[in-house]
Amino acid sequence: MKPKQLRIGTTFYDIRYSKKVICEEGELLGDIDLNSLIRIDSSVPHSKQLHTLFHEVTHGISEEMYLNLNEQKTTLIANAYYNFIIDNPDYIKEILKSFENK
Ligand SMILES: [Zn+2]
Repeated sequence: MKPKQLRIGTTFYDIRYSKKVICEEGELLGDIDLNSLIRIDSSVPHSKQLHTLFHEVTHGISEEMYLNLNEQKTTLIANAYYNFIIDNPDYIKEILKSFENK
C-alpha cells in the first residue's frame, strides 16, 4: 500500500501520486514542497515510487533537522538507508515489533 500521508518530525506531508511531476527544472520522478506536500510520479513501477518517496522524505528530514543536505548527499544517504532496510528486513521488523502495544 502506498502511503497517503507521512509525518516527518513536526510536519505532516500529504503524498500525491500523479502521472507526471513537472517543476521548473522539467519532469521529475518526485518532488517535495517543504510546506507539506510530496508529489510522486505514478507512471513508474511501484518499487520505484517507494524509492522516490524515500528520497523525498530524506529531503524532508534534512529540512526538519537543519542538515542542509545538497542533492548529491540526499541521494547517497537515501539510497544507503533504503538499501539497508531492504538488506535487513528482520532487524526492521524487530524495531517495529518493539513499538507494538505501546
Ligand atoms: Zn532530490
